[in-house]
Amino acid sequence: MTDQIRPKPGIMDIALYVGGAGHVTGVSDAVKLSSNENPFGPSDKAKEAFQRAALKLHRYPSTDHAALRQAIGEVHGLDPARIICGAGSDEVIGLLCHGYAGQGDEVLFTEHGFLMYRIYAQAAGATPVAVKERDRTTDIDALLAAAGPATKLVFLANPNNPTGTMIGLAEIERLARGLPPQAILVLDGAYAEYVDGYDGGAELATRLPNVFMTRTFSKIYGLGGLRIGWGYGPQAIIDVLNRIRGPFNLSNAQLEAAEAAVRDQDHVARCREENTRMRAWLAEALAEKGVPSDTSTANFVLARFADDAEANACDAYLQAEGLIVRRVAGYGLPNCLRITVGDEASCRRVAHAIGQFKARA
Ligand SMILES: *Cc1c(COP(=O)(O)O)cnc(C)c1O
Repeated sequence: MTDQIRPKPGIMDIALYVGGAGHVTGVSDAVKLSSNENPFGPSDKAKEAFQRAALKLHRYPSTDHAALRQAIGEVHGLDPARIICGAGSDEVIGLLCHGYAGQGDEVLFTEHGFLMYRIYAQAAGATPVAVKERDRTTDIDALLAAAGPATKLVFLANPNNPTGTMIGLAEIERLARGLPPQAILVLDGAYAEYVDGYDGGAELATRLPNVFMTRTFSKIYGLGGLRIGWGYGPQAIIDVLNRIRGPFNLSNAQLEAAEAAVRDQDHVARCREENTRMRAWLAEALAEKGVPSDTSTANFVLARFADDAEANACDAYLQAEGLIVRRVAGYGLPNCLRITVGDEASCRRVAHAIGQFKARA
């Protein structure tokens, strides 16, 4: 190794992404509520498709993902030609950064936005810019004020992670129309399915030339371990992303499980209903114990504590009880803990433990 071998500027500034913990030392039946996973897992049809894919592991997968794009298009009423599939929506976010942003360009996102926006912006050599929110909610005026001639991409998760808040489509359209002409607005709809009747911004991405939508199979579809996501937007953007996408970025197992999953909308509806019911129950139970949260539109609740010390102490208490939630100091919310809405037993367990913690403190 020689000191002449160096990565591109900025790469070593990237802070490694740390996923939600999955284990507590010494606890065998820990409940994982740290990664916004669907407690019910995927559709049985997706599992069956995955197993069938095991019979043809020697075959290369399709490069154009035509069958999966067709299925997504049918279910969502979208033109399959304007859809791109990736290894999680993470890959699509990465393709957008690599395709559109580089040295001297700015990539905007909201103050408490998803960490991958910053990481992929830095990986592309661009400058990440975090824009203030108002009371843990996207502030369109602040985003418009921050956008300028160097802005290439604006990432907005709606509902947002880890705040759980969302803004309306009229406000989003005002943002899209007010951005400088060279900027793309990316609507990250990772949690869109949890909002009954919300299209994730699909209609806006159909109508406006500067709006792109990303979606994932990792959350309500319960396929986070398989890594499948997709993007939809103007044909010109899809054509750019397809040029830099790896031709075999998705395996047969990913493609076939995702196709079966998206065609099983009954499973999606059941998971949405159960999430809505338990999310309301959990938020209410926490509020009764003196732990407020903003009205969440996703599959988690952002529990707010008096200060950083109380949040950390509660996290430690929960861990000792075998309950794993997510610290969100890295998202600028050190006095909060993000708790995924699990099944009823997990929700009851975590609410009970937080009540005990508050009673001791
Ligand atoms: C979980 C999540 C994603 C999904 O990432 P995948 O790569 O599709 O697993 C995207 N955006 C946000 C805001 C998320 O929370």
